[in-house]
Amino acid sequence: MSATQEDSSRKRQRTDASNGDAEQADTVTVFSDEKHWHSDGSLVIQVENTLFRVHRTMMALNSEIFKDIQSCRNPSSWRNSKDTLYDPPYFSAMHSGTLSATLPVLSSVLRLATKYRFLGYRTECLSISIDISLILGCAQAAAAVINLARETNAYCLLPFAFLVCADAVGDDDKEFIIYRDLPLSYQDKAAALQGLHALTCAQRDRMFPFAYKTPNRDSTDCSTGECRTEGLFKNFVRHSGYSFFFDYYEYDEWLEAEKALCKECFEYVRVTSRSGERYIFRRLPEFFCIGEDWRELHKRQNLGSE
Ligand SMILES: [Zn+2]
Repeated sequence: MSATQEDSSRKRQRTDASNGDAEQADTVTVFSDEKHWHSDGSLVIQVENTLFRVHRTMMALNSEIFKDIQSCRNPSSWRNSKDTLYDPPYFSAMHSGTLSATLPVLSSVLRLATKYRFLGYRTECLSISIDISLILGCAQAAAAVINLARETNAYCLLPFAFLVCADAVGDDDKEFIIYRDLPLSYQDKAAALQGLHALTCAQRDRMFPFAYKTPNRDSTDCSTGECRTEGLFKNFVRHSGYSFFFDYYEYDEWLEAEKALCKECFEYVRVTSRSGERYIFRRLPEFFCIGEDWRELHKRQNLGSE
């Protein structure tokens, strides 16, 4: 069959669109374009009532928009995004879903929502992503979030994801190593290591200064005058090159310190650690070389969306 013959047989294609209860079906008649219905084309475009069948690679070579479409050929990505459009409870279910089930779906929807500017869906995806980042305990998942955030300009996801990566570093060489184990760009690996260094310095100076030197009595209001804090928190000194951000309050030292210190001194060390924790959280964007502060990240993330 020649192209011309095929064209003429395809002309007068009819598409009937109706809902089940409609008394009168809407009928749309479409025509294939005589010149640009290529029999070996891989992409059909409808403009009003005219169909064009063209080559996807040719379009992608000449158009940034079609190049984007070319890069989003995974049907499941589109299926997930359509689920969010047509099924409102879909997003609600993701808020309570497991990390392994939710992250891949969320990633594909966020990518498409960002690329094709479904701004409301992008905002919703980001709010769920932030929920997820709070429960991240897995550096591999955190690395996936970093890559997703880079791709979609979701800057506010980065600090916490970097923190999870830095926190996974252990003092055993057989354990997790950022440069070996994380599927990140070398720039992001360097940022994770820089952040770990800044984090450990802040831990020493802001969270556990009492582990290095007993604070003066004017600061603590010590009721006995005999409390000594250095030595009570040996682990924070011995492993000062590693993150304690997520689990510092779980160490047995706190139980021993509560027995060894007067009430005022124990309250002092507890409040100091909490205050240092908040300080570190505020400074995470700077620690991991992402931006000056959280405000800047919010501004960059929402650029063009407001
Ligand atoms: Zn005391």
